[in-house]
Amino acid sequence: MKRGTLCVQGGWQPKNGEPRVVPIYQSTTFKYESSDEMGRLFDLEASGYFYTRLQNPTNDTVAAKIAALEGGVAALLTASGQTASFYAILNLCSAGDHVVCASEIYGGTFNLFAVTMKRMQIDFTFVNQDAPEEEIDRAFRPNTKAVFGETIANPACAVLDIEKFARIAHRHGVPLIVDNTFATPINCRPFEWGADIVIHSTTKYMDGHATSVGGAIVDSGRFDWEAHAEKFPGLTTPDASYHGIVYTQRFGSAAYITKAVVQLMRDLGAIPAPMNAFLLNLGLETLHLRVPRHCANALSVAEYLSQHPKVAWVHYPGLKGDKYYAAAQKYLPNGSCGVLTLGLKGGREQAIRFMDALRMVAIVTHVADARSSVLHPASHTHRQLTDEQLKAAGVAPDLIRFSVGIEDIEDILADVEQALEHA
Ligand SMILES: *Cc1c(COP(=O)(O)O)cnc(C)c1O
Repeated sequence: MKRGTLCVQGGWQPKNGEPRVVPIYQSTTFKYESSDEMGRLFDLEASGYFYTRLQNPTNDTVAAKIAALEGGVAALLTASGQTASFYAILNLCSAGDHVVCASEIYGGTFNLFAVTMKRMQIDFTFVNQDAPEEEIDRAFRPNTKAVFGETIANPACAVLDIEKFARIAHRHGVPLIVDNTFATPINCRPFEWGADIVIHSTTKYMDGHATSVGGAIVDSGRFDWEAHAEKFPGLTTPDASYHGIVYTQRFGSAAYITKAVVQLMRDLGAIPAPMNAFLLNLGLETLHLRVPRHCANALSVAEYLSQHPKVAWVHYPGLKGDKYYAAAQKYLPNGSCGVLTLGLKGGREQAIRFMDALRMVAIVTHVADARSSVLHPASHTHRQLTDEQLKAAGVAPDLIRFSVGIEDIEDILADVEQALEHA
């Protein structure tokens, strides 16, 4: 099936007489005929549901759709995008381990990595993603276990050279994890460029209507953990908490995602409610229709702003002349995303005045839903970062993040025009 068909029908194939629409299994627990049958589930000898903290049929149906869209072997839904990033790393790293990460990433992910996970003694080295390979090579250590970056960075709108990052990661015997939230699998499938694990904040375009916080981890099934067994003992040596099973031996190409479910979900339990998975699925059913409209509207807004005398600068990977235009043509030929950034002449002060003057476009702490919105990261999402960290994350103090929605473009441009008159 092609991507549009997968959006509509992927994951749920009802049998004779079953509901056409994926049901919400609002049940914490599942019934078995015998004690032995249930026991086999706990030993991972049989597959089946027993407790929704680990797995739920509604969630798994939606995860299967996302796995199919990304071209992976399996996926796992998490309670948030933050959890997806956290589990994706924690599934490979213990205290004393190290990760190489692009510096231009989402502010929340940066805090998670640089502050909270550092307290767990998992260390991150942040690299300039546009640096030459030899420079990024120097960030690696013997205890490095993964490389992390965003297809399109939030909010810097930097496009990751995924092939380059995959080459570097594989040269050092570790997987590349890519946050594909902004591009979505409609515009880019990182596995086709060598990434090994993909994560999503499904809160954004996938849900698309700003109803449900959620995340996903997708496993390509292609990384050869056994070939680098000494780096990944959690996958390649016996797990005492399951009578000594070895994930790579028992689960083959699904070793990574299975371990995330049966260890991390079992122990930490950040699983979305089945109701939220159902709402996410409704969003996914129109992802292939909404994403192109977001991109077309964003390109129109970017072109309009780039001509406006009060605008100092605009970044949008789809805009000719943008620093990332060539990278976007390669990795995102059908469109990048609906998010762009801009700065006004007069800086921070004018940014606030412009935003306050908008009428239809709202100030919200969100991006990538149907409604157009703006945010000033330096005073909102990235408030905790120092000026130096802001710079490293590609966030100028005057930067306005504009998430262009799927309204009629004439109305969006009219609102921008009148607000610019006030600036
Ligand atoms: C929002 C976002 C996250 C975090 O996701 P939540 O669902 O808010 O936890 C991670 N990565 C990117 C690129 C995001 O935009």
